[in-house]
Amino acid sequence: MKSFRVLLLLLALSTATVWAQAPAPSQSDSAPTSEPPAIKSFDVSAMDLTADPCTDFYQYACGNWMKSNPVPADQVIWARSFSELIERNRYLLWQELDAAAKNPQTPLQRQYGDFYAACMDTDAVEKLGLAPIRSSWSEIDRLKGVKGIPALLGRLDNQGTPDGFFNFYVSVDEKNSSNQIAELRQGGLSLPDRDYYIVDNKHFAAIRDQYVGHMKKMFTLAGDSPEQAAREAAAVMEIETAMAKASISRTDLRDPDKRYHIYTLVELSSLAPDFDWNAYFRGIGIGHFDTLNVATPDYFKALNGMLSSEPLAAWKSYLRWHVLHGQAAYLPKAFFDENFEFFQHTLGGQQEPEARWKQCTSLTDRALGEAVGQDWVKQNFPPAAKDSMDKLVAALEKALGEDIQGLPWMTDQTKKAAEQKLAMIRNKIGYPEKWRDYSSVKVSRTALIQNTHHVAVYDRNYNYAKLGKPPDEKEWDMTPPTVNAYYEPSFNDINFPAGILQPPFFDFKADPAVNFGGIGVVIGHEMTHGFDDEGSKYDGKGNLREWQSPEDRKAFTERTECIAHEYDGFLAAPATADAPAQYLNGHLTLGENTADNGGLRIAYQALLDTLAQEGKSIDEKIDGFTEAQRYFIGFAQVWCQNTKDAAARRYAIIDPHSPGKWRVNGTVQNFDRFGEAFGCKKGQPMYPVNACRVW
Ligand SMILES: [Zn+2]
Repeated sequence: MKSFRVLLLLLALSTATVWAQAPAPSQSDSAPTSEPPAIKSFDVSAMDLTADPCTDFYQYACGNWMKSNPVPADQVIWARSFSELIERNRYLLWQELDAAAKNPQTPLQRQYGDFYAACMDTDAVEKLGLAPIRSSWSEIDRLKGVKGIPALLGRLDNQGTPDGFFNFYVSVDEKNSSNQIAELRQGGLSLPDRDYYIVDNKHFAAIRDQYVGHMKKMFTLAGDSPEQAAREAAAVMEIETAMAKASISRTDLRDPDKRYHIYTLVELSSLAPDFDWNAYFRGIGIGHFDTLNVATPDYFKALNGMLSSEPLAAWKSYLRWHVLHGQAAYLPKAFFDENFEFFQHTLGGQQEPEARWKQCTSLTDRALGEAVGQDWVKQNFPPAAKDSMDKLVAALEKALGEDIQGLPWMTDQTKKAAEQKLAMIRNKIGYPEKWRDYSSVKVSRTALIQNTHHVAVYDRNYNYAKLGKPPDEKEWDMTPPTVNAYYEPSFNDINFPAGILQPPFFDFKADPAVNFGGIGVVIGHEMTHGFDDEGSKYDGKGNLREWQSPEDRKAFTERTECIAHEYDGFLAAPATADAPAQYLNGHLTLGENTADNGGLRIAYQALLDTLAQEGKSIDEKIDGFTEAQRYFIGFAQVWCQNTKDAAARRYAIIDPHSPGKWRVNGTVQNFDRFGEAFGCKKGQPMYPVNACRVW
């Protein structure tokens, strides 16, 4: 289990952010036919030149693209830069996996080739049926009483089987970033968020009914009688609803102070005395520790109460469900289809599953990413790209330094502290210096589920081995082909996988305006995360420690509240007959919006500096647009997207990032240079009289 504090550029566009929720490999299997072309970084044909950039800049920059690029049947979001590049990178990765599966040249290629081949072997999946999960179900059947649950969870964990209940892992101590400690956090739900269980309206009530119906079908497919399946589904719903009620909100979880509670083992035992923690920790085989972070104490207190209020039979149903649901994507077609129907189609609006080769490529990347990535970067990341990135990052660092110097609201003493933190940000570009060693992971060519179990146990043991040690600063949380980037507050570092250092984000051949609008804003976004409402609570060493003076923190919070209030008013999905209008959650998205606003501003400053060095002007025209206009259009075209209504609703609840439209219109309307570049009149929507600004 990975750390939860990483601040991404975007949530994974698929439904998966962690292994246990990995999206399903589909049952259809048509090999890809041709390599998707490189994506243009600045494309006039994507624009709607009939729209007024001062009224709706997103429509102006993306209108034609949106009209001619509906969401494909196997997706729920289709984004001009992200989705097209994800598809291209995945195709290039598939070529490598397919070749390795047919004719491996190295032991590493044999390993990931076999993993991919096992995933593609749907005949073997059908033949195995439910056999790969039967032993876990037998363990659950043998449970004699609630007291035996902790030891049982340990046994399931050792088999690599998903089991619900909560999250437990090792991560950096937020107040002592040179050490790694154990952490317990709420979890145990199957639906995407606690809101799905507890919000009282027609829309969510209908989803809850459909979820219970889905569980009944899955249990019936697995051989239960209809009556038994109905009883089990009702029990799972009751337990998960109680867990949802005991969970804190996603927005509260973003606040580091609300998720840091150091407990001794004795204190943990009095918080939740009916759960035998010693048996659990012994069972999972983690090393000795005396204290840990209980991120969400109230959850564990409530869980303790549930242990005596819920009967044993209900807990057995709950565990059986998590074993089945957690692996439904790797089971025979009947289970796969039913799982797809509810979790992807009903909840996300996806019309059909992705082709099997796509899903198996993504699955192999998630499972053995630093194995496949080694070969991928050799083909797809020229060494010269790293030098160019180093220069861009340096330009952005300088611009953020100038920005801090010029801030109207910050005292000199706090400016100095901010500059110190900025100077300590480390950069990781492309891929790890040292690759992870997967040699202990057993991979079979015919057993998909067993392979996923072996990887899950490997990942878990890899994580547990960190207990009590300083963190490895060279480690990556993303695989090399990933189209994304992140800032890690406890490391105070920014990370750019090779996958995003490609056109249209980063293009050797494009003019500086377009590169600064693309990858430049991405770099600025990640740097600004170090100074958003969450990241700003950590110092340069990655410790949760206040470095702003009280008056500066107050001025900072007034400014972030301006952003939160502004984005609260942005619509994510309009009202329908069955569902109310869904607006963005200004506080859930505050860190990302602050990073977007800062990123756009400092990348512009870095562009000005770069043009000045080259003796060029921001008003110079190329193909009819000034450099300033090309910068903003290039930026906006990174975010052109179409989204299924159901997915837009889901993302508004679970995704800390705003949708493309508001990443564009929300930021440009807060930055006067935009209105000036397009000759807008003060008071027009994209050039308002009162704008919000933090950095
Ligand atoms: Zn971000």
